[in-house]
Amino acid sequence: MPELPEVEHAARELARATSGARIIRAKVLHPYVGRNLRKASLRRLAGRSITRVDRRGKHQLAVLDDGALLHVHFRMTGDWELSSTTDELPRFARFVLDLDNGSRIVLSDPRALSTVEVLEPGTPLATVLGPDAVSEQFDATHLRAALSRRRIAIKPALLDQSVVAGVGNIYAAEALWLARIDPRVPASQLGARDVQRLVRAIQRVLSRGRDGSGRYTTTGSARLNVYDREGKRCARCGTAVARIIQAARSTYWCPGCQVSPAPRAKRP
Ligand SMILES: [Zn+2]
Repeated sequence: MPELPEVEHAARELARATSGARIIRAKVLHPYVGRNLRKASLRRLAGRSITRVDRRGKHQLAVLDDGALLHVHFRMTGDWELSSTTDELPRFARFVLDLDNGSRIVLSDPRALSTVEVLEPGTPLATVLGPDAVSEQFDATHLRAALSRRRIAIKPALLDQSVVAGVGNIYAAEALWLARIDPRVPASQLGARDVQRLVRAIQRVLSRGRDGSGRYTTTGSARLNVYDREGKRCARCGTAVARIIQAARSTYWCPGCQVSPAPRAKRP
């Protein structure tokens, strides 16, 4: 599943591939992926160029030369595939941009859960997003305030994009492991030091997605400590990694060393 580093990489790839070119035509090849895209919006992409591509959380926002935004979210299995207008379309092509320089940008998505829409100038994203996980606005003060209002467990709270934008299931598990925080603890019960550690842990796991040159890569998965490691020994304490279901998603964690915060003393 594309997480923040992969989406950042994809956004840069899209920017590079479209730089200096105009869109000749845009096509939707799957009704679900294009469900928010009106025919008129699709037609108006022709003749436009993409001036830059921003990323907010896991949303890609391609800024068109007339101020409109092409908004793309990969969800579970989306990715860009770059080819040329004379190539055959890949099997899972769901959305296509043909450019006047002969390049073709394909949104390839086996499960077809991605979304593509055009936002007219001035139209905000429908999703409320918290600060981006790798921005300066994301700090312990923000996170503590955001968590203090939530009674749900910390793991699903981290997946709430209005708390912090860009943390997905893999990196939420890895960050909680790094910060030694029990994923089942109610979000509002984390103390200042827990939150401080958690912010640093999130920043660390997300920066591991980058290679030595500072570029984001998708090869960081070799260094996962708990995610998808049920039954294997924790690298820190040797306890078997456990898996539980929280908010319909798998949570991998170590019951041996993810013990923070300590349970509150029972009141008489
Ligand atoms: Zn452990």
